[in-house]
Amino acid sequence: MSDGLFIGGQWRAGSDGDTIVVHDPATGEAIATVAAGTPDDATAAVEAADRAQAGWAATAPRERGEILRASWQTLVDNADELATLITREHGKPLADARGEITYAAEFFRWNSEEAVRIHGSIGISPAGTNQIIVRHPPVGVVVMVTPWNFPAAMITRKVAPALAAGNAVVIKPPRETPLTALRVAELLAEAGVPDGVVNVVPTNHSGPWFDAATANRACRMVSFTGSTEVGRVLLRRAADRVLKVAMELGGNAPFIVFDDADLDAAVEGAMVAKMRHSAETCTAANRFYAEAGVADAFTEKLAAAMGDVKVGSGFDAGVTCGPMINAEAIASISSLVDASVGAGASVATGGSAIDGPGHFFEPTVLGGVDPADPITTNEIFGPVAPVIPFSDHDAMIDAANDTEMGLAAYVYTADVGKGMRTAERLESGMVGLNRGAMSDPAAPFGGMKQSGLGREGASEGIYEFCETQYIAASW
Ligand code: NAD
Repeated sequence: MSDGLFIGGQWRAGSDGDTIVVHDPATGEAIATVAAGTPDDATAAVEAADRAQAGWAATAPRERGEILRASWQTLVDNADELATLITREHGKPLADARGEITYAAEFFRWNSEEAVRIHGSIGISPAGTNQIIVRHPPVGVVVMVTPWNFPAAMITRKVAPALAAGNAVVIKPPRETPLTALRVAELLAEAGVPDGVVNVVPTNHSGPWFDAATANRACRMVSFTGSTEVGRVLLRRAADRVLKVAMELGGNAPFIVFDDADLDAAVEGAMVAKMRHSAETCTAANRFYAEAGVADAFTEKLAAAMGDVKVGSGFDAGVTCGPMINAEAIASISSLVDASVGAGASVATGGSAIDGPGHFFEPTVLGGVDPADPITTNEIFGPVAPVIPFSDHDAMIDAANDTEMGLAAYVYTADVGKGMRTAERLESGMVGLNRGAMSDPAAPFGGMKQSGLGREGASEGIYEFCETQYIAASW
């Protein structure tokens, strides 16, 4: 059973016997206990990765590609079991959990194809004196720190390209959702990933764990997905050893509805952008800008759709919004909603936490929200949709860009030219034009400004895990 630390292909207890108790957020009950690692265990995992690194980097790209392809197949073959695990420890509806596994597995299929296409270049120097040869060797051991909102996909989106490029990795999954991470590692080993190439060490002490892992000379890169606040801390620490970094951080996505938009399509897209995975996504629509001519109608239709959402255990039939991850999440969402209503926003539906057990919040739509309301500048990470009416296009775009975040944005309009011009002006790494979802292993996922550094997915994704070496050659 995968309840230990996974280091060098072996399962072991934490070196001081510490454990993590995992809870079901739908009931608050303890559901499992897994080993928790110490800083020494983090060091042991980096050392195991270091021992595996050279051999893995030396395998033929085709061989790595075939192991990645087998990994995709293994994850797909075990999708039901993995989805059940995700719903148990995260709480999201089973259909969302199944969707996450499909998405998570696809990174292995995509990168199995990319593994044989890591291209360099050769050119002649302008003076004609030598050749300029550029190649992309693997960066070396990568330390990965991941969030709880996608217990599988936020791991595979990093691991698949890192392995394709020839790197060994050490993963610190979050305390909230270690079960999926450990089972994925076990399945990757079954698919043929050699011992030590993927190591997983959950911990109760993230800071000291990270310091030990990154202080080790074998560690050459940090790949982090999580909040901007923690990302800043890890960037500072990575600076001590000038480590390569990739950062997928927080979001604050605007969702813009022009008055010529197909309102039903806009509401359907809004529900996808806001509510999938229980509204706990980094790309979640966080503020809805609706043009004055349609603001009331959009608010009403959105409120009707949100009012129809069935909230409950992710295992129950018909539920499309599960619990929030913990009590702190409920407290944070409640305080944003209460402040917004206190400042004059109207409640079109919902507005309150639901009594326990479990951590549930009513799907909520707030109307007439002030553009400067704190709910528009904070990541809500819950089922709340604040609607802000606008009439001046330029002022709306200024407001949409008036944030340090720049991950995702959405635009709904029947005029594709207007939609494209709006998209070009949005300071956002990703824009959905008449679409409420954009994640795709074949597309570069990532943010501008304080939403991140680097991209995951597409062809770019693999080069994040490579060095660039130039050889000046004469012959
Ligand atoms: P978080 O930043 O609190 O935690 C993320 C990870 O960092 C966890 O594994 C946590 O244990 C670890 N961590 C926390 N403090 C640490 C420290 N001092 N040293 C080392 N590790 C530390 O984020 P979260 O609550 O797990 O996830 C939600 C956040 O993640 C949201 O802001 C969301 O937008 C963001 N997110 C971004 C993306 C993206 O692709 N841009 C994807 C998913 C989630």
